[in-house]
Amino acid sequence: MRYDPTNIFARILRGEIPNKTILETAHTLAFHDIHPQAPVHALVIPKGAYVDFADFAANATAEELVDFHRTSAKVCEMLGLAPGDGFRGITNAGVNGMQEVPHYHLHLLGGRVLGRLVEKA
Ligand code: 5GP
Repeated sequence: MRYDPTNIFARILRGEIPNKTILETAHTLAFHDIHPQAPVHALVIPKGAYVDFADFAANATAEELVDFHRTSAKVCEMLGLAPGDGFRGITNAGVNGMQEVPHYHLHLLGGRVLGRLVEKA
């Protein structure tokens, strides 16, 4: 899938849409989800144009990969997810994953027991 620069997270990165920033680094932005699914619901996105996890994991630079994961860990710490009572990191991709925004993002959810990973069909 080709990257669509009009997606909502690209617009957030360009400063066209406001966000509640948790942490920003040279390569990564973390902010609160606009429709939280749990008491804590953060999104972590790379600043680079990557469509989904597979694209990011295959094509990002080592510096981007390290920065993204270190920033995610720092966000977990800042929001009391880890150390804490646990959390779930989710990344959706494509039609089967029901990805809504085609810019790679990691959901970090916590603050309550989150139930089973996947509902039975
Ligand atoms: P996906 O389904 O692509 O994995 O998740 C996209 C997430 O982005 C959803 O949880 C949705 O609530 C969130 N989202 C969509 N638009 C905005 C926005 O404009 N601002 C913020 N902060 N989150 C958004």
